Amino acid sequence: MKSKHVPPAVGGPDPYFPTSGDHRYRVHRYELALDYRPGPNRLAGSARLSAVANTALAEFALDLAEFRIGRVLVDGKAARYTHRGGKLRIRPAKALGAGAVFTVEVHYTGNPRPVRSPWGGLGWEELTEGALVASQPVGSPSWFPCNDRPADKATYQIAVTTPSPFTVVASGRLLTRTTRASSTTWVYEQSAPTSPYLVTVSIGHYVPVPLTARPAQPGTGQHPHAGAGHLPQAGHVSQSGYVPRPLVEAFTRDFARQPEMMAYFTQAFGPYPFGEYAVVVADEELDVPVEAQGVATFGTNHLGGGWDRERLIAHELAHQWFGNSVSIADWRHIWLNEGFAKYAEWLWSEHAGGPAAAVHAAAAHRLLAGLPQDLRLVDPGRKLMFDDRLYQRGGLAVHALRRALGEDAFFAMLRDWTGANRHGVVATADLLAHASRYTAAPLGPLFEAWLERPELPALPA
Ligand SMILES: [Zn+2]
Repeated sequence: MKSKHVPPAVGGPDPYFPTSGDHRYRVHRYELALDYRPGPNRLAGSARLSAVANTALAEFALDLAEFRIGRVLVDGKAARYTHRGGKLRIRPAKALGAGAVFTVEVHYTGNPRPVRSPWGGLGWEELTEGALVASQPVGSPSWFPCNDRPADKATYQIAVTTPSPFTVVASGRLLTRTTRASSTTWVYEQSAPTSPYLVTVSIGHYVPVPLTARPAQPGTGQHPHAGAGHLPQAGHVSQSGYVPRPLVEAFTRDFARQPEMMAYFTQAFGPYPFGEYAVVVADEELDVPVEAQGVATFGTNHLGGGWDRERLIAHELAHQWFGNSVSIADWRHIWLNEGFAKYAEWLWSEHAGGPAAAVHAAAAHRLLAGLPQDLRLVDPGRKLMFDDRLYQRGGLAVHALRRALGEDAFFAMLRDWTGANRHGVVATADLLAHASRYTAAPLGPLFEAWLERPELPALPA
């Protein structure tokens, strides 16, 4: 059987989205100042990017959807540009040398709307009252000019000015909130490196609902294999909901166990990678909840309780480690995000006294056995990157790894993986190299069977 090895983090265009991003430079900081008027859905923005040229550049490109461009400055000087097909191509007055540090400033206005994709609209979405952002994988240009590559992680300052009755939630820590006349400016700082698709803003009539840990219940569910005896305090991480007032009670009930989940995941996966975790419940139904840096956005339809909703709470929280802190080099490796987030659902079930992960794995295996086996986990192709089979089989692959390593080594491997790659970028080959350090047995065959071949391997015993 020929094995297909995917090269690690690459400097070229993303194989699935070759027109997204520009690999010839990298951004280390974005400063966004946005004025948003919900009624007319009007956005006036300025974005200041601090970047480094990887190579000599006479011109470079940013991703930005259809906005009217006011000014474009490079290092403070007016630059020539063209803007079509979602690409803002900029030619600085003076070419940039390899390694040059430079700033780009873009002023733009318009009516933001989602970027069309095979998975529906992506990015900025106008709501009946407000707006939300759900960009995965390529929706960010719907609201700010960016180098839209998951591997190009940067820090962000996001200032949003909007009518005062609205609440603004964005990735990061709220630095200031200033009201002038009838508008309020909310300034958020995201100091952790963040992929553009994980930057988010939610604007709506939300009530903040702090989530606090209940006292630990003795004898329940502490994972016997997750290392130290003390359950880490989840209290260091601020956890809040932002919820439409009529849903506060339902939210408080349905998310009551999230602090416990946070404590367990901290124990199983290592320290929570960010300073805060905000859950927005938009006042609309959403197909699926979506993860962003330090934020997850749910729809009204995700309230109501039951395992099928509780597992989503675990899934989105787990993405803060898998996907958001430990990010993928390019979209071929999306199973690293979704496989671990799926497995986190099963781990939570096991920890919380529900069915063990092995029971969920067996169910997933039965499901997959009855479906076409034409999907490879690594490099599934753009068409199948969000296929439910990728999630299920991703969870199974992690389960197979757990069985191969044994309990102690598996959880040590997990914590070291999120620790060593905290705020970094990885590819599947990095996981193989990493996990191989926790066993004497070669893991190549397991990775090949689960990740590179389409046929479903036997359920790990
Ligand atoms: Zn997910």
